[in-house]
Amino acid sequence: MKFGHENMILDDILKVLKRKSSCKAYTVQGQSFSYAKLYRFVCGLYAFLLRQNPNKRPVVVYGHKDVMMKAAFLACSFAGAAYVPIDESTPMTRVRQILDAVKPIVVLGDIQECFPAVSSEQCRKIMESSDNAEIEHIFLQPDDICYIIFTSGSTGTPKGVKVTYRNVDSCIRWLSGIVGTNREVVLNQADFSFDASVADLYLSVLSESEHYILSAGSYTDLGLLFHELRESGGSVAVFTPSFADLLLLDKSFDRSLLPELKLILFCGEKLSASTVKKLYERFGNIRVINCYGPTECTYAVTSCELSYEPDISKEIPLGYPKHDVRIYIVDEDLREVPDGQTGEIIITGASVADGYLNDPQNAAFMTYMGERAYATGDLGRKENGVLYFSSRKDRQIKYKGFRIELSDIEKNIYELGYVEKAVVLPEKFSDGRVLSLIAFLILRENTSKTPSEIARELRGRLPAYMCPVIRTVKELPLTENGKCDERKLLRSVRDVGKNHTNN
Ligand code: AMP
Repeated sequence: MKFGHENMILDDILKVLKRKSSCKAYTVQGQSFSYAKLYRFVCGLYAFLLRQNPNKRPVVVYGHKDVMMKAAFLACSFAGAAYVPIDESTPMTRVRQILDAVKPIVVLGDIQECFPAVSSEQCRKIMESSDNAEIEHIFLQPDDICYIIFTSGSTGTPKGVKVTYRNVDSCIRWLSGIVGTNREVVLNQADFSFDASVADLYLSVLSESEHYILSAGSYTDLGLLFHELRESGGSVAVFTPSFADLLLLDKSFDRSLLPELKLILFCGEKLSASTVKKLYERFGNIRVINCYGPTECTYAVTSCELSYEPDISKEIPLGYPKHDVRIYIVDEDLREVPDGQTGEIIITGASVADGYLNDPQNAAFMTYMGERAYATGDLGRKENGVLYFSSRKDRQIKYKGFRIELSDIEKNIYELGYVEKAVVLPEKFSDGRVLSLIAFLILRENTSKTPSEIARELRGRLPAYMCPVIRTVKELPLTENGKCDERKLLRSVRDVGKNHTNN
């Protein structure tokens, strides 16, 4: 059933699937699918991929959290092809950029207009087809690419991070040791096109748990979100801190809503002590774990289980590295700095991904201390081996849990063709979290576009979470040394009384 002698997670996942149990494997929008059903879906797609994608080209999987996506990810892996998840909320301009970069032979899902895709209707038939009812071989090799996740790129086009099967194996084995899940109900928050979903995608199936999906409109429809949470019986949650903060705004987010909840796994952005404290107050006996890591290092590389009474005045640590990675804090010349001193976080070892698609020379991936390494652009420090996060050294931010390069937004604004100068800035809360994104634009002379027209056009190019509030200005204030005075620009917004009406 497997190649070589290494036992890897797909072997274990296949064993779970082959039990064909009637336990719930996947629940979305009130509809549940058993493990027996999931296995059948995977088998159908696996047979199809072996026929249609013999050269094992990456397969684009397009949709929104439907069961086909999860079945397709597993089928791709068993059939030896990398999968490329795209959420259907992604604007078509960006979808096209991804397709141009990947050049897939097979696209699963309802991508209209530009591509001969296998529609979700056809996928459903393939999944239900009973020929080749078993998976006999796992074709994916440890150093093959398991998935390619696209993330905001400073050049204005998304960049694809190539993550190997060995990376995933290392991450999920480590996480499953920490989380210790077995037949749980694992709550999913993030879209599958984000690295933040990798933990719940794999942990759920490896532990024969129910993967309970908090569906689409939930984030805008809090009524539906709370209904789903109440129905879920969720026992393990994989959340971003922003999402927990959103839930905590509602007093009913407590033990009576989720009586079975025993663990929350956080990753992706700064977790505050006040969030942790509130969670303990509302839920009493739960475990709260903070993880840290970029997509380029496969979900997470450090973890820290937080104590019941975090000191609210102190920062939450990122914790200790997993056993097969090493973390260095370095200065600008890549020399290690002493304990307690802040520098860039460099990660080496088993979690470091294969690199960016079509960009093998990218300087962020390097060799450090004789090992494959990734320079994160994160600034942090170590104290007695424990890692702490401080900030970014570049213009990458986290907004509502999403990773955004501000220059990605600016490049897309310039591509509208009528903007002379664009500066996108994050407006922040006093604790450093981003409150909103504001684009200050000087328009070309012959343009009569209004802020709301510009905002509408931008929504055709960028995902909703990347679309800034538009403010047109006559000139940009400068600092004494001739740079754009960002503080003054942001102050001007506050002075006008937060004029956020255009979007
Ligand atoms: P992503 O690739 O979307 O997972 O984003 C990775 C970036 O999110 C990291 O480089 C950090 O800047 C930030 N990040 C991830 N986890 C944490 C954390 N626990 N605390 C603070 N920042 C984090």
